Amino acid sequence: MTNIRNFYINGQWVAPITANDFDVINPSNEEVCATISLGSQADTDAAVAAAKAAFPAWAAVPQAEKLALLVSLLAEYNKRAGDLAEAMSVEMGAPMDLAKTAQVGAGAWHIANLINLYKDFKFDRMLSDAAPDDRILMEPIGVCAMITPWNWPMNQVTLKCIPAMAAGCTMVLKPSEIAPLSSIVFTEIVDAVGFPAGVYNMVQGDGVGVGTQLSVHPDVDMVSFTGSTRAGTLITKNAAATVKRVSLELGGKGANIIYADADEKAVKRGVLHCMQNSGQSCNAPTRMLVERSVYDAAVTTAAEVADAISVGPANAEGRHIGPVVSNLQYNKIQRMIQTGIDEGARLVAGGLGRPAGLNRGYFVRPTVFADVSNDMAIAQQEIFGPVLSIIPFDTEEEALAIANDTVYGLTNYVQTTDHTKAMRAARALRSGMVEINGTSRGAGAPFGGYKQSGSGREGGVWGLDDFLEVKSVSGWVE
Ligand code: NAD
Repeated sequence: MTNIRNFYINGQWVAPITANDFDVINPSNEEVCATISLGSQADTDAAVAAAKAAFPAWAAVPQAEKLALLVSLLAEYNKRAGDLAEAMSVEMGAPMDLAKTAQVGAGAWHIANLINLYKDFKFDRMLSDAAPDDRILMEPIGVCAMITPWNWPMNQVTLKCIPAMAAGCTMVLKPSEIAPLSSIVFTEIVDAVGFPAGVYNMVQGDGVGVGTQLSVHPDVDMVSFTGSTRAGTLITKNAAATVKRVSLELGGKGANIIYADADEKAVKRGVLHCMQNSGQSCNAPTRMLVERSVYDAAVTTAAEVADAISVGPANAEGRHIGPVVSNLQYNKIQRMIQTGIDEGARLVAGGLGRPAGLNRGYFVRPTVFADVSNDMAIAQQEIFGPVLSIIPFDTEEEALAIANDTVYGLTNYVQTTDHTKAMRAARALRSGMVEINGTSRGAGAPFGGYKQSGSGREGGVWGLDDFLEVKSVSGWVE
């Protein structure tokens, strides 16, 4: 990787106008693995200006030409899969097996899905047979700022940049400063494909710097953000003065309702899902709600499953979980485990400190609390680590009430062999997504949340619509 300190503006790799070094830490060994530069206002302005200048011509490029570029992009992405996996593994601690499969795979899946739906997407539609003179034109919104987190780097970058390109928008990507390396590879991929200069730009930076500069920038038409609810609120406020569209994918505190008639693998599946990516997924099922008659057995199983999860460095092959991303996150998770103990929850697996034999690196013990009540901080706050809370319930109404008793509403999960009950729950749950019996979302399904989990949807036609304006024209004659 040769462009670690550089930004990508107007089709060129360029040095920062003023260097501002920032060390990227490998969370498996706490050592500096790269030094990037954080951008300044002048870098942000240059990138936005390039995107603004490129917009009219890119918006007018025929759909078939854009499609051909996206097809090349997918081929190039797949060619660089190894480099992407390596970068994510080093920057955010995804074990190599997970990095190669789920982390890289998520990006390839999103690009392929977008290509499929884009082929037949109608940007230009008749309103209805009853109003033949009315035409609906779906037009690109303009210059977009993409602000992404560190936990699923390519998942987020592709969910934003690919539909925006397809829509005819131009953009400035600001990846997480904690995990900036995979976005350098992604930028090399875009560069190799040969998009017109200025369509895609990338500036490294932090939230108070480039993130805020993009959010307030008068020439940015939309901010698409994934990250914490804290930053999402600030971005919304900063974008308000220029009435930008703001699309937010924020945190979650997913409930996983395990009814007494759930299949026998439901508890194990729930624990493993919660711990995947070291618990650093916004849609993780972090609250396991278990019907009282199977509660004790579920707690025993959950503890056994958590105890059996091995933890180790990201560069090792295997199905272990890696470290959490940073010292900051490690300390936050430790504080939350202590809070759970202080609140009187029963620790049945894991706990404070590092797993045995791991003295360096931000490794957390897979932790399970039982006898949690939903008003405890560990049940209400997003911990973003391998920490599961188990909560008993007696009736269906109580389970649904507990599940909905959260400021979040991203993904909830239901486990039962009674399909009528499962569908009843799916309708009652206040969340953007519900997954029944371990069935994950299909190609083209929208991703996004209710309440403080965000606004807007990514993926599928909804993800493309997010980047489009709707123009209504009357008096149209073909
Ligand atoms: P974060 O909010 O700290 O940072 C995310 C991005 O926002 C980074 O690029 C950061 O530099 C930038 N940023 C921070 N403050 C900003 C500000 N004031 N203005 C503009 N930009 C700012 O979040 P994180 O720690 O990187 O990611 C973890 C969070 O993301 C979790 O809460 C998680 O649930 C959430 N998340 C949500 C989804 C989803 O799709 N709903 C997906 C992944 C992660």
